[in-house]
Amino acid sequence: MHQILSIEQFQEIKNKGIGFIAITDRYLRKNCVHHPNCSSIQDSNFVQKAITSNCKNGKYIYVDHQLQGLDISSKMKLCGTCFS
Ligand SMILES: [Zn+2]
Repeated sequence: MHQILSIEQFQEIKNKGIGFIAITDRYLRKNCVHHPNCSSIQDSNFVQKAITSNCKNGKYIYVDHQLQGLDISSKMKLCGTCFS
């Protein structure tokens, strides 16, 4: 498990399509774990949250297994789109 800090890391994970991405957000009641190829996993959203906002309101965390993502916090759920 590691935090994704650069757009290069983010794009590499998406290109490989391996593992999962957990997105935390302090203001959302529900946070989600996604497959890297989910439609919610967008460069523009990553840049906004991790770079422009400097992870102030939330983070992108790479995990090998979705259960590691669920362990991050009690409000972390599996994405309804990419896990359906
Ligand atoms: Zn998803």
